Amino acid sequence: MIELKSFTKNYGKIKAVDNVSFTAPQKQVTGLVGLNGAGKTTILKAIAGIHFPDSGSILVNGISVEDNPVIVKSQVGFVSEQPNFIPDFRVLEFLKSELEIRRPELSKKEVDEELEKLVESTWIGDVLTKKIKELSKGYRQRLSFARALAGNPSVILLDEPASGLDPRQIVEMRNLVLSLATEKTILISTHILQEIDALCNTIAVIHKGTLKAFGTEKEICDFSGEKNMEAAFLRLTE
Ligand code: ATP
Repeated sequence: MIELKSFTKNYGKIKAVDNVSFTAPQKQVTGLVGLNGAGKTTILKAIAGIHFPDSGSILVNGISVEDNPVIVKSQVGFVSEQPNFIPDFRVLEFLKSELEIRRPELSKKEVDEELEKLVESTWIGDVLTKKIKELSKGYRQRLSFARALAGNPSVILLDEPASGLDPRQIVEMRNLVLSLATEKTILISTHILQEIDALCNTIAVIHKGTLKAFGTEKEICDFSGEKNMEAAFLRLTE
């Protein structure tokens, strides 16, 4: 579970996120939807412990990110929009080292078993011997997904996960997200409303750093007095 309590974050004089509160429950996909620059990535980075709130707080499974960043980081997998990798690593050795570092309790045999599961669920079997710098954007995105899952996190953050994927990969990514949601907390940022429709149980509409609405699609449509999400989104981000 993720809880934002009056979360506020500034970059110098820019108020990127202002007093946002909501809860993303376990075993659900919660969507963060907003226009470019709305503050979505700023929220995800704060949950991942990449930066801290200027005021307010964020709890992951009841633990404060600011007070216990190391514990929280071990429970969170972040698939960022522009993932960074060491370019000369080969995919297989990279994933194996991620598993060994993040799950030191695993035996060699268990590492190999987990590796096989990761490769299968993120469909990167075709590129295991390639160097990371040789991968296409879609495959980098898959590798980023695999890296996030390597630590077996209970919370997964996805920043614009469909970006760079072809239509088939988008369907596969959605299926993977839905299967992970049977046991994990998932928070996904997007400005694609079809993504929300296909994946999310609950939606937080963010506009210019503030929370404009939170609830199911129906609740958001009722709240904004509109018949569908597209019209509701346009009204809430006027
Ligand atoms: P997008 O959909 O375009 O990725 P977003 O909703 O994720 O946008 P953020 O990246 O969180 O939005 O940005 C929120 C605001 O904070 C924007 O005005 C952005 O320009 C600003 N911002 C983000 N990162 C920084 C930074 N490192 N320094 C200064 N301003 C920043």
